[in-house]
Amino acid sequence: MSAPTAPTLAEVVDLLHGWYPPDTADSWDAVGLVAGDPADVVRRVLFAVDPSPEVALEAVEWGADLLVTHHPLFLSGVHGVAATTPKGRTLHTLLTGGCALLGAHTNADQAVAGVSESLGLALGLGDLAPIVAAPGSDATGTGRVGTVAPTTLRAFAEHVAAVLPATAHGVRVSGDPDRPVRRVAVCGGAGDFLLDGLVGSDVDVYLTSDLRHHRAGEFREHDGPALVDVAHWAAEWTWLPVVRDRLADAMGDRVEARVSTRCTDPWSFRVDRPPVERSTTP
Ligand SMILES: [Zn+2]
Repeated sequence: MSAPTAPTLAEVVDLLHGWYPPDTADSWDAVGLVAGDPADVVRRVLFAVDPSPEVALEAVEWGADLLVTHHPLFLSGVHGVAATTPKGRTLHTLLTGGCALLGAHTNADQAVAGVSESLGLALGLGDLAPIVAAPGSDATGTGRVGTVAPTTLRAFAEHVAAVLPATAHGVRVSGDPDRPVRRVAVCGGAGDFLLDGLVGSDVDVYLTSDLRHHRAGEFREHDGPALVDVAHWAAEWTWLPVVRDRLADAMGDRVEARVSTRCTDPWSFRVDRPPVERSTTP
């Protein structure tokens, strides 16, 4: 029995770009192949959220030929990639270790089996549809809305905390804990840009990341959906097993695909105020 023929980098890139077309990315975004020779052979692919120096090292130490990340390494103009900066260090580690780098960012957000859909599926939402459908499509688009079996806001938040990978950020909730929850909207990444469209909708709770005081507070003044704020890394990580399985299904044993479980959320730990001793004056 002969060993399966490993694909070229070009073949793997074509496959990923077929699922997550680069021309569906936002105009400000930078997606696609960042480093690597399309003619090289790819035997191992590592999927991660962030192209941090530590993730690059993990990829090379495992012997990956391709690192696929959700976040871009470069988004603005660069005038050098010396290993004296963190981004330069990432690139040097990958290139000297023979590992290519590909980014799938906003093109992966909107797609079927993309980031927001993966987040919805990880949370067990049924009947998923985009919050804002892409023109001419009812399957792709921004965010996802779906249904869960009737529950309460507190129970839903506990479910979210149990299902997503653990982070120091945890799960923050705005709303009455006993509020009934049935319709759930989600958006991977920083989803405050969808808040205005969800005011007055039939959604019971909106889950996203990076919500801030004023936008969250003003949204809640409308007495509309409750809010659940989760770690940006944790929400987007849910896409990685989905795309890994997709690649494994398409390539069989021609490639070995793995998901990085290294938490690259920037928040390391949190401290709560110690409980204040109540004075017990009779
Ligand atoms: Zn993100």
